[in-house]
Amino acid sequence: MIRALIVDRGADGGTAARPGGIEESDLPEGDVTVEVSHSTLNYKDALALTGKAPIIRSFPLVPGIDFAGTVRTSAHDGFKPGDAVVLNGWGLGETRHGGYAAVARVPGGWLVRLPEAFTPEQAMAIGTAGYTAMLCLLRLEELGLTPAAGPVLVTGATGGVGSVALMLLAKRGFEPHALTGRPQEEPYLRDLGAAGIVPRGEYDVPGKPLAKERWAGGIDAVGSHVLANLLAATKRGGAVAACGLAGGMNLPANVAPFILRGVTLAGIDSVYAPLERRQEAWRRLARDLDPTKLAAATRTVGLSEVEGAARDLLEGRVRGRVVVDIAG
Ligand code: NDP
Repeated sequence: MIRALIVDRGADGGTAARPGGIEESDLPEGDVTVEVSHSTLNYKDALALTGKAPIIRSFPLVPGIDFAGTVRTSAHDGFKPGDAVVLNGWGLGETRHGGYAAVARVPGGWLVRLPEAFTPEQAMAIGTAGYTAMLCLLRLEELGLTPAAGPVLVTGATGGVGSVALMLLAKRGFEPHALTGRPQEEPYLRDLGAAGIVPRGEYDVPGKPLAKERWAGGIDAVGSHVLANLLAATKRGGAVAACGLAGGMNLPANVAPFILRGVTLAGIDSVYAPLERRQEAWRRLARDLDPTKLAAATRTVGLSEVEGAARDLLEGRVRGRVVVDIAG
């Protein structure tokens, strides 16, 4: 049996997670089998584990939208046994067994070679949240955003995407400000690189169609009024990358920032990003992210503790990142 966490659906439609095992024959199709050492707890995993949103499409399923580990067997040209690899998304933990199991089987074309700069545990401290923060930064750079354009805003700042976004922006010479509902975390946020703190209460309420030009751009993990107000306060020609919905899926905005200030709103999808983009993101993470700094923003849990950590995450009690040690 392969050690795993499994989510089942009961007769009442409710879901529950239990430590258990799957057979090798339960593994989905793929030409590469990976011994998974670490996964991570992302916002989507927390929704899946608690059943708060219909993330899991077939039951029973092993959750976990990402993993890092070592190739055990490969029929794919790009990988051989012993290679260290990382995977983000592609429907793992949603439509097929995911990272919360000691073994995973996937198409080799979904895997990214683990950069030498990171251990598998460090790669999962970054996880899908950190890789998505990098996808946001890459997109903003393509849109011409530079540090010289002025301060940028990171929303959901104490969360996984937000914490890594702050580190990456600061490292590239930007002046990132942190929008947070947890002002007591100011020392943590400043340590990551935040130049200033913006109380969430200023942005999570209905605002004006256009506000004073304050931000050259931003990385938004929250959506709803927060994103609408960020767009309204974005300077002429600025750009905002939107990747999340921690504050809501709606966008109560208007077109004024786009048509009067030429602001660009860029959507970021990490799940089905093309392989070349993933490779680029992981290369840049290896160059720009200090793993020791990330360690201070990370805690590690075992499979039996993930469900509790998921509840904590959705109730705003988790700061930074949570790594899942599959053997723990
Ligand atoms: P976390 O839970 O780690 O962080 C979310 C943060 O958002 C919280 O820490 C909190 O920050 C803030 N927040 C929470 N609730 C609210 C609320 N009601 N209103 C406003 N702000 C709130 O999640 P992640 O960072 O891992 O993910 C963030 C979002 O990004 C999620 O929606 C996730 O699904 C999405 N995502 C999308 C991806 C994609 O491919 N597009 C990939 C990865 C993540 P604070 O306390 O500092 O305000």
